Amino acid sequence: MATKQNDVIDKFSYLSIETQQETGTNNGINPLWLIPYSFKCGYSFQCPLTFKQLIDRQMSQKYFQEILTVTEQTNKIYDFHMRLRSQDQYGLMVDFIYKNADDQSGPVKGDACISCDTNNQLSQLSLIKQNLTTYIRLDTQLRNKLIVTPRRHIERLSNMTKEEMIQFWHETQVVLDEEGCDWQSMVLNHGKYRKHVHLQMKINIEQHQWNQYIKKKYEEKIQQMQHLLKCNEHNPIQTCVVHQKFNQWSKIRSNQPMRKTCTDMKGK
Ligand SMILES: [Zn+2]
Ligand SMILES: [Zn+2]
Repeated sequence: MATKQNDVIDKFSYLSIETQQETGTNNGINPLWLIPYSFKCGYSFQCPLTFKQLIDRQMSQKYFQEILTVTEQTNKIYDFHMRLRSQDQYGLMVDFIYKNADDQSGPVKGDACISCDTNNQLSQLSLIKQNLTTYIRLDTQLRNKLIVTPRRHIERLSNMTKEEMIQFWHETQVVLDEEGCDWQSMVLNHGKYRKHVHLQMKINIEQHQWNQYIKKKYEEKIQQMQHLLKCNEHNPIQTCVVHQKFNQWSKIRSNQPMRKTCTDMKGK
């Protein structure tokens, strides 16, 4: 008798089952997913699962840990621009750009960590969500980006504990679901490619979706940030009384209505 094909099993879960049997683990990482493909400025890993599928199948921590091991342990590359790109239903592409590391200046030395400074007004104001292990913020330069930072001072993705990394990817997917946005790319700069010492992931959102969801929902917050940025230009010592009010407000969840009492907003 001919073997019955189970058409319920898609080819990806079939791959996972195969690897599972090979390696005796249930992580399901196919060794083919860990082969880097070179291009001009670095190399890429191709994963047939989407970002969401990796998380839903509880494979995200294992997968990212494995490709970081290939890069840092095997290839001894520590300065890199790591970029996740969605290939829609065809899965995920993760690029490591490292060949122009000598042109990168790295973070400013001796600077206090802005992400750990709980008194920094702009980072307080930009906060949209506090999770167990991460903070989610709007970009302090007001670009179309959501910023995910670990709450603990961590400088490399590979420095996260297993638990922290599971949470990190999970909380990222949760916020994207909550905001109703698709992502275009996610960027994690390491070593010389960083501007800040504290690890951060920038989630790039396409302009139309940004306007439709994020910009609308956080309109008030964005206005306040614009105001703060403008004020700081003229007044870097941050003595503006209005900003102290912003501080209090920023602790309130952004979906609650905020009163507009800033009188100097109109004039500027
Ligand atoms: Zn820090
Ligand atoms: Zn002001």
